[in-house]
Amino acid sequence: MPFKKDRHIETDILIIGGGTAGCMAAIIAGQRAPHLDVTVIEKANIMRSGCLAMGLNAVNAYLVDSNPENYLEYVKRDNYDVLRSDLVLSIGKRLNSMTQMLVKLGVPVPKDREDRFLARSPRSILMHGEQIKPLLAEAVISQGVHVYNRTPAYRLLFDRTGKRVSGVAAFDLRSMEFMTIKAKAVLITTGGASGIYRPSNPGLARTKTWYCPYNAGSGLAMGIRAGAEMTSFEMRFAALRTKDVIAPTGTLVLGTGMSQCNARNEKYIKKKEEMLGRPLTTCERLLFTIDEHKKGTGPCYVDVSSLDKKQYNDLVESYLNMAPSIIIDLLKDPDHPRTHIEICGSEPYINGGHGMAGFWIDKNRRTTLDGLYAAGDVAGGSPKKYITGCFAEAEMAVEDIIKTFCEIPEPEVPQKSVTLAMGEIFSPLYSDGDITFTEVEERLQKIMEEYAGGSTQNYETSRDKLVLARKYLLRLFYRAGDMKAAEPYELMRVQDTMDRILLGRVLVEHMLARCETRWPCYQTRLDFPMRNDLEFLAFINSKMEQDKIRVLKRNLQPPYTYMPIEGINNDSTN
Ligand SMILES: Cc1cc2nc3c(=O)[nH]c(=O)nc-3n(C[C@H](O)[C@H](O)[C@H](O)COP(=O)(O)OP(=O)(O)OC[C@H]3O[C@@H](n4cnc5c(N)ncnc54)[C@H](O)[C@@H]3O)c2cc1C
Repeated sequence: MPFKKDRHIETDILIIGGGTAGCMAAIIAGQRAPHLDVTVIEKANIMRSGCLAMGLNAVNAYLVDSNPENYLEYVKRDNYDVLRSDLVLSIGKRLNSMTQMLVKLGVPVPKDREDRFLARSPRSILMHGEQIKPLLAEAVISQGVHVYNRTPAYRLLFDRTGKRVSGVAAFDLRSMEFMTIKAKAVLITTGGASGIYRPSNPGLARTKTWYCPYNAGSGLAMGIRAGAEMTSFEMRFAALRTKDVIAPTGTLVLGTGMSQCNARNEKYIKKKEEMLGRPLTTCERLLFTIDEHKKGTGPCYVDVSSLDKKQYNDLVESYLNMAPSIIIDLLKDPDHPRTHIEICGSEPYINGGHGMAGFWIDKNRRTTLDGLYAAGDVAGGSPKKYITGCFAEAEMAVEDIIKTFCEIPEPEVPQKSVTLAMGEIFSPLYSDGDITFTEVEERLQKIMEEYAGGSTQNYETSRDKLVLARKYLLRLFYRAGDMKAAEPYELMRVQDTMDRILLGRVLVEHMLARCETRWPCYQTRLDFPMRNDLEFLAFINSKMEQDKIRVLKRNLQPPYTYMPIEGINNDSTN
């Protein structure tokens, strides 16, 4: 199906991705600068897109009995000291005001008799968030923001100098129009990436993943192609979830106070905490679950046998706010109410909201590309930001855009780069190639799973496996140029698959560069099983230069100067 015609749009502020951060950015821009024209382009429909599509049942980052400094300390401890303290602290200062924004939008956040939010932990509160996304979307629309749904974007567009981001190239999935959107300021909020590793559910259930299956990491891929600096891709995120239905374990453990146990009903997490004399880090909860399997004492469970009827019903209600499918699973059990709920680790994801992989940004959420901002899961360096942290980053980016708006030059995009982008995006429609995106996707996921530490490999890898992954991914990258698309949906999937391969390649280079094990499971090198603070209390970053991925190392402290990086073959054919 050939494309129809091209369409040009011009706006003041362009937001790519109308999810959590994108919608909040649009609302704030609309409220604080009503004279500016704001446009959101979204791959799906902002009413139910991205991570919030199914709803949420908790605000994971809210300071109950805590302050921004304590929050920073907690994130630092949980992240083994590697993180951008400036970014995390700036988020910490806004977590509670962002929660008030949620309340103003009409999201029910329950309170106790003393008018305090109901705490799940010192840093999280309960929320009835099934309607959170429609409420955000309605607020965007009521601000008069222009929204283009079903319009996936795939290439950044630059001005005449080739240095300043001035817009984006996308296409309309319904009308098949090629769209160029020119803007004075561009904010990218396309989230992290799923589908790089083999999903734990096979066949038709393969989209039942922890991370939104349509977040293909295209914003990250657009940035990489354009030479933006990326950070910490090697710190993947894998979630501990209920088996098969992939509902949150936090709802069971934090929400009900129940504990994790192995197949012999031994409380292995509690035991470890007693042994170590401290709470476990998030990745250790996953690590010690995997260890039970390795010892032959798995599978693991959350023991909910001591919940009374009311507590069990509260649990069911909480799940109804974000993961209704587990209710069907719970109810079909003859042993109702269920006493043990099986848990397991998900496949790994690239994600800057729970983890810290993403664009390297400054305190105003500017990326290293002039004119381009990033916020939410697409922005790196600040793990554990969750929904309120994504909102906070959106607010900081918009504040900087508004503050500097009169200094921004008029956007211009040369026709040559529009034609080039159109050629790259639409070429699969005219391809004589012979492979489908599903075949390429399966191959990508197999390579990543088996050589780059997938869940079936206990998240472990080593140099020799990663070098093979590098070789196979490069071959796949060239072969994938033969993917063919017959209609708009297939075209989107082909582009997503190309983006995922690129992200897989960058991920492998980052994993090769970090010759230590810092975040067990998220990043485990069997050939370097220990933490090495002497060499790796630092950021591993990367940039694409002339089609090669160049790995960089940056100091942990401001101004984050570059450091020499040894043993990395940067000019190899990666
Ligand atoms: C299963 C799950 C449970 C969670 N539970 C909680 C919780 O209980 N509490 C909490 O505080 N946090 C929770 N989080 C974290 C929180 O939801 C995320 O950190 C946050 O929603 C991410 O926001 P975002 O804007 O970066 O990404 P998203 O909200 O995913 O938005 C990205 C948007 O970009 C769009 N997009 C993608 N590619 C393109 C493209 N090429 N062109 C145009 N648009 C594109 C997507 O369709 C999507 O709408 C959870 C996350 C997940 C995945």
